[in-house]
Amino acid sequence: MTEPLRLLVPNPGAMTLAGTNTWILPGVNGSEAVVIDPGPDSFPHLDRVRAACPDGISEIWITHGHDDHVGGALRLAEWVGCPIRAYDPAISMTDALRDGERGQVGGDAVLCVTLPGHTRDSIGFIVFLHDGPVMFCGDTILGRGTTQISWPDGNLALYLATLDKMERLTEQYGIRRLMPGHGPIVTDPIARIRAYRAHRLQRLDQIRIAYRAGHTSVPALVDAVYGDLVGPTQKAAEQTVRAQLEYLELM
Ligand SMILES: [Zn+2]
Repeated sequence: MTEPLRLLVPNPGAMTLAGTNTWILPGVNGSEAVVIDPGPDSFPHLDRVRAACPDGISEIWITHGHDDHVGGALRLAEWVGCPIRAYDPAISMTDALRDGERGQVGGDAVLCVTLPGHTRDSIGFIVFLHDGPVMFCGDTILGRGTTQISWPDGNLALYLATLDKMERLTEQYGIRRLMPGHGPIVTDPIARIRAYRAHRLQRLDQIRIAYRAGHTSVPALVDAVYGDLVGPTQKAAEQTVRAQLEYLELM
């Protein structure tokens, strides 16, 4: 296929960075495209997505069930008459996506790999482009900064195991780029995966130390470890702190 196309949803914010990335895997010779994460239910954005797929859309794939990724999927599916596929059977309109499932888009092979942690239902897609494989990884790794563990759906032990799995797959297949759900393309996948792991382990140390120093409530731990936060970033930090307390068996 030609290079995957990124359409940025106009929903910038502290949690969404510049906005959600909708990815389009173009078809070849008039075949239909696949759309990954149509984004929230934004009419103008979905209209742009449809216009960017002049030969139609065969399937909509969902990296995970957060509204900023899946909210517009049903509207787009109805417009173009295609199924939605996700790991979560409650979101899938046909068979749910499975770990290890193989397919084809635009003449290129695709491998589905589960990536639980940010959410339980997170799944990624390795697409074997002619210039090397890339992985669409949803919010498991972002183009900038770090991600959140959406406790209680998200789980830190699963997330750390997923980082190990991503590193293994990146080495095994020679994955060259990560195509995240937010932010720019990651061109140094192994370094980024390791930096994410180091960051998570460092945070666990900080939580342990703060907890022993008497900061045992979630708000106190957020203050001690994350500093002064407001709004959605504070809520995200609280969820991630709860995920860390669960991991450390301190709750
Ligand atoms: Zn997101």
